[in-house]
Amino acid sequence: MDAIQDGVDSDEALQHCYVGGTMTNSTKPHATYLRKRYREDLVYREQIKKDMCEYRRTNKKHILSLERKRAKELWQQALIFFGPCSCCGEAQIEFLTIDHKNGGGNQRRIRGERGGYRLLAKFKHDGWLPKLKTEYQILCFNCNNAIAYHGKCPHRAKEVVI
Ligand SMILES: [Zn+2]
Ligand SMILES: [Zn+2]
Repeated sequence: MDAIQDGVDSDEALQHCYVGGTMTNSTKPHATYLRKRYREDLVYREQIKKDMCEYRRTNKKHILSLERKRAKELWQQALIFFGPCSCCGEAQIEFLTIDHKNGGGNQRRIRGERGGYRLLAKFKHDGWLPKLKTEYQILCFNCNNAIAYHGKCPHRAKEVVI
């Protein structure tokens, strides 16, 4: 399955698509009403899920581009918050991953989660808390992989030699 399936499978995401793209946290009465109804009315929820499946099938391209746009915006915000790759300074968002500073091998798998999209969405939702900077950093794929497989990045190794 492609990334978009992953992204809209949860109830929350279904509802958030349904309520309308970026309106996830909307407190407008209609959005609040729909959210409440979605939570409480099982029949309605099933209908929405069915509708969403149908909608996804017929609008796959559109949904994918929306997801990409959202991911890009998230990464742009993350870049402002964390700064570029903390090893080499890479700032091209397509190359970036989120790294758990004190994480071991398992934690590094965070990068597999759709490029950290979910994690970033959570960071944004929580308001980009400053303490995140002590726990996470941005690394590019190159540096992240080098650290994961060789223990340290050649960028750093060079520094040591010099
Ligand atoms: Zn790098
Ligand atoms: Zn590096």
